Amino acid sequence: MRVARRVEVEGIVQGVGFRPFINRLAAELGLAGEVANRTGGVTVVVEGDADAAEAFVDRLPREAPPIAEIRRIETTAVAPRGLEGFEIGLSRADGAGAIHLPPDIATCPDCARETADPTDRRFGYAFTNCTNCGPRFTIVRSLPYDRTRTTMDAFPLCPACHAEYTEIRDRRYHAEPVACPLCGPRLAFARAEGPADASEDALLRARAALAAGEIVAVKGLGGFHLACDAAHEAAVLRLRARKRREAKPLAVLFRDLEAARACCVVDPEAERLLTGPRAPIVLCPKREAGTIAHAVAPDSGCLGALLPYTPLHRLLFEDAPYAALVLTSGNLAEEPLCTANEEARTRLGGVADAFLLHDREIAAACDDSVARSTALGPVLLRRSRGWVPGAIRTPFALGRILAVGGHLKNTFCLTRGMDAYPSQHVGDLDDLRTLAFFEAQVERLGRLVEVEPEALACDLHPDYITTEWARERSERLGLPLVAVQHHHAHIAAVLAEHGSTEPVVGIACDGTGYGADGTVWGCELLLADLEGFERLAHLREAPLPGGEAAVREPWRMALAWCEAAGETAPFARLPHLAHRARDWEILRAAVRGGLAPVRASSAGRLFDAVSALLGIAGDRSEYEGQAAMRLETAAVACPLELPPLTLAGDGPPWALDPRPLVRALLDLRERGVAREELADAFHRAFAGGLVEAAHRLCEERGVRTVALSGGTFQNERVLVECVRGLERRGLAALWPRQMPPNDGGLALGQAVVAARRLAAGLDRTIGGRG
Ligand code: ZN
Ligand code: ZN
Ligand code: FE
Repeated sequence: MRVARRVEVEGIVQGVGFRPFINRLAAELGLAGEVANRTGGVTVVVEGDADAAEAFVDRLPREAPPIAEIRRIETTAVAPRGLEGFEIGLSRADGAGAIHLPPDIATCPDCARETADPTDRRFGYAFTNCTNCGPRFTIVRSLPYDRTRTTMDAFPLCPACHAEYTEIRDRRYHAEPVACPLCGPRLAFARAEGPADASEDALLRARAALAAGEIVAVKGLGGFHLACDAAHEAAVLRLRARKRREAKPLAVLFRDLEAARACCVVDPEAERLLTGPRAPIVLCPKREAGTIAHAVAPDSGCLGALLPYTPLHRLLFEDAPYAALVLTSGNLAEEPLCTANEEARTRLGGVADAFLLHDREIAAACDDSVARSTALGPVLLRRSRGWVPGAIRTPFALGRILAVGGHLKNTFCLTRGMDAYPSQHVGDLDDLRTLAFFEAQVERLGRLVEVEPEALACDLHPDYITTEWARERSERLGLPLVAVQHHHAHIAAVLAEHGSTEPVVGIACDGTGYGADGTVWGCELLLADLEGFERLAHLREAPLPGGEAAVREPWRMALAWCEAAGETAPFARLPHLAHRARDWEILRAAVRGGLAPVRASSAGRLFDAVSALLGIAGDRSEYEGQAAMRLETAAVACPLELPPLTLAGDGPPWALDPRPLVRALLDLRERGVAREELADAFHRAFAGGLVEAAHRLCEERGVRTVALSGGTFQNERVLVECVRGLERRGLAALWPRQMPPNDGGLALGQAVVAARRLAAGLDRTIGGRG
């Protein structure tokens, strides 16, 4: 019997090879019909055998292109019209609604096969791509998304590529970056001191340099990387010394999944991410037997693993003696990524021995994304390449807002309708060049997602560069500015991505954030919704001896907490800190002289303190979170129980007191309990205390849901302990799944709070209720 079905598909289904896919599926099932783009989706009509039509409806969502995001499908029976063949409406002709620009997509299996096939015309070609894969976000100059508005406009299509590009049944139909060795971008090789040579053997020479232990700057998709043999200890140390990056973990690009498995534990979730279209860096537990140089990630029990996501990355391993390459961003310290050939040769000239260049311009820098595989599933630590400019859909109207984010790990966020568009990773805004990058990307993303902001949102911190920038802009353009408290923004971001509007108890733990009372916050239990919050409890404050220096030197926090815990002779019990006795005396004399240190309720600083107290932290931290990362890495599961943090004082806000915990750590350390066990017990006592306190506050306030966020929840032990503990007590736990828990997620929270407060006509500076 002949039947007809109309299928309405909503979501991100344009510009991702969806119509060719529909065409192929219909042809395979012997169905006639048509497909056309419309605002927010596509409309498909199929006609033919009833079983085939049913199979079509069934297979469509399951076999859709990997990067498509189907939000809704509605199928209706319609009268057959006697259609013949399959018609594909042109997207350009209908022109209605914005075509959402997809992110950069990792090489698809078909393109990988062609690049490796000696009989294919794209054999060995580093820029092979199709509608299912390849660059998008990083090559677009302006919209609509069309080859002439991308950096591919410099490469006129050859007849063979043109035929593929215009043939609707071809996998490369309207694949804007389509290219081949005849007409597309080319590689070039250069020694640090020497001209660039665009010869055929650029890849060969790059591989030879890498095999010889040299550092090669490789121009990739969203910017330059610095690469070297990851098993070559001396090469890795040289890279660290030249890049001025002592210990911060470096990512490792493995030849393939097998090579990654030999050096780290790749669980099914990690595998799905590594081999999927977004292909982020995934932190996977190291294997003892792995061959990766120790210097790659000296503080961490994990390796940041990555699989080739462009044909160029695959080709770097062709016939190569190495199976893994360090692949770290091509910049010095915290400067922005290099994207242009000449700029890279100047700025990275002192770091790289050689350069593997190409002539496809990068329209915008975009760092690799980073995820961590945890017992609760993947957590994003950096949402950038492969995700951006994808939207986070919320269930509420947001209006057009620009939220400028925080100061470190900055991202910003634009909103339109019910969608929020977080930017790529911008970085730490200490460098003027990073601020310039921030400004340029604000303009660019605004153009790509077609948002002209009607309001601004920023952090409550008066001195963040982003706050000053937003204030200046709001005054100049006469736009309202909403200042959102840091930890409220952390919690609001979680609520936004989960579409939750009910009040929750939010646990926000991180290094520091500007508190509503002007003091430094960093371990907060808030009764929060999207409009406001009340500070119910926080970690007991401790002084930060020497202010900023206390972040860099964890021993300062160890001694501050010892003193707070009533330890009068710390050096007798902590001989490994004895060399700091004089420094400590000077600090205390300054306090006696009336120079009171800043006090903070910071979870990050408590972790630093414990790490130093147990002799796990180094004398100096190179980056924030290093001491805490070492503490997490050192921990070895044990049955030891420590006194948990307990709620004290007259609240709200109550104080969570860690002093009994600190005293217990000192006693047990003195009695010779292994520091690895103490590290484990500390994590459980800390998380257990948070859970207990949240439970009590939930009961008191009639709340059933607890939201967790802030940089401390990058720590898997803390996250898992908290979530499991809350669930054991019958509470629902929400944690960041689509956004990072660290300050990279702040902008989303700011945007949503600003939208809700503006809509409700509330005060624009949020100091909290109560
Ligand atoms: Zn492809
Ligand atoms: Zn071509
Ligand atoms: Fe934070």
